[in-house]
Amino acid sequence: MDAAACIGCGACVAACPNASAMLFTGAKISQLALLPQGKPEAARRALAMVNKMDELCFGNCSNERECEAECPKEISISNIARLNREFVKAGLVSVAK
Ligand code: SF4
Repeated sequence: MDAAACIGCGACVAACPNASAMLFTGAKISQLALLPQGKPEAARRALAMVNKMDELCFGNCSNERECEAECPKEISISNIARLNREFVKAGLVSVAK
């Protein structure tokens, strides 16, 4: 459960040339999506968190990996991949309803 180590310091956002918050958001989405207690709201959470990033004009990830290099908790960029998977999955669930 490495994603749970995120302390929300924002170093990843500051280091990113796109001002992306995807490492932080990916860590939170991963942490909650991997817990049984987090599953019932996983789709709604992923959509809401990504929409909020867009609303606040954070950039997108372009795989620079500066976030991962600067993170004091060594949060892996693989959490961004999980964020993307959870977001796509949530979109498919909402279309199917
Ligand atoms: S730098 Fe690491 S610990 Fe800080 S907010 Fe980003 S992911 Fe979390």
